[in-house]
Amino acid sequence: MLATRGFAAHDATSSLVPFSFSRRAVGARDVLIQVRFCGICHSDLHQVRNEWGESIYPMVPGHEITGTVVQVGAEVRSFAPGDTVGVGCFVDTCRTCGACRAGDEQYCEDHVAWTYNGYERDRRTPTYGGYSDQIVVDERYVLRIPAGLPLDRAAPLLCAGITTYSPLKHWQVGPGHRLAVVGLGGLGHMAVKLGAALGAHVTVLSRSEKKRTDALRLGAAEYVPTGGDYSKLARSFDFVLDTVSAPHPIDPLMETLKTNGTLILVGAPEKPLSVKAMSLILRRRRLAGSLIGGIRETQDMLNFCAAHGAAADIEVIPIQDVNAAYERLLLGDVRYRFVIDLASLR
Ligand code: NAP
Ligand code: ZN
Ligand code: ZN
Repeated sequence: MLATRGFAAHDATSSLVPFSFSRRAVGARDVLIQVRFCGICHSDLHQVRNEWGESIYPMVPGHEITGTVVQVGAEVRSFAPGDTVGVGCFVDTCRTCGACRAGDEQYCEDHVAWTYNGYERDRRTPTYGGYSDQIVVDERYVLRIPAGLPLDRAAPLLCAGITTYSPLKHWQVGPGHRLAVVGLGGLGHMAVKLGAALGAHVTVLSRSEKKRTDALRLGAAEYVPTGGDYSKLARSFDFVLDTVSAPHPIDPLMETLKTNGTLILVGAPEKPLSVKAMSLILRRRRLAGSLIGGIRETQDMLNFCAAHGAAADIEVIPIQDVNAAYERLLLGDVRYRFVIDLASLR
């Protein structure tokens, strides 16, 4: 067993605090990674505070992990000590179901071992995430960080990057499409970069005027401060990618879609959303969702980001500042992803 240090939440209402725990010894197909950076996803906050109602404590969050390989098992073929690698939202799946075989491991029909707040393949050992100094992962679930992507700015790609890339690729969003990105946070700012790189005409719908200059710099063609009022945008978009983390009305957003348009939810508010049947029926609109992405697609996304210089815009913090960062994240006060420098733990 490997003695590991990290930060953990012990219940839904207290702060994250230093925490020591054990990771499994490096197995034949395992890779031991020294964690260098870990992004703070809004999903970390939802789960630490048990907003989705399925939290396991103690919880060491973190699924936007980059680092360096320090040791590999005897049968590892793809990685060697010194390689720069990443780990995203899951560290194992059943490997045999239709979804796994199709490369959609995130939709595994049997068991997904989430990187934290989940259980390993044995379904008993809790998983602990990247707010820690090291992690052991089967090589099949480890990503390669291409040269040219700095490890700190690459970390958020492992969740925010793939969560926005996957639906854009699935619905083949590109030239000739008008794409609205709702909410300019961690996911939203990557959606703008990726949507623009894929050739779509991107409009940012943000609550206020504050992020206009940033949005245009990130690649948006247009910026609309909505204050929740979308009435001037009726039938404007082919796709709406909704990254909002809090409960919000969906019908006004549906009205911004053209006939046959698709609203894709990636934001995961803690309360159910309601939608009028007529919002869908009258213009044959679709309401869809999308969950992160598979391993192969995540590697494609990393390579695409390296080729397009599309790393995240980040604010690097020491792990001791994580609780203050959560409060700022709740206020939308981050440009555009907090990333923990794990050197602060050593
Ligand atoms: P984030 O950085 O906090 O960004 C969320 C953005 O939503 C904010 O920057 C803000 O943008 C907007 N917003 C916040 N509260 C709002 C409100 N009450 N009304 C309207 N807009 C509001 O969060 P994130 O890390 O990007 O994550 C966003 C959501 O996606 C979370 O729910 C997270 O759990 C979920 N998520 C889903 C997946 C998936 O696989 N589907 C993966 C990762 C994360 P403006 O300031 O521009 O208005
Ligand atoms: Zn995430
Ligand atoms: Zn499976």
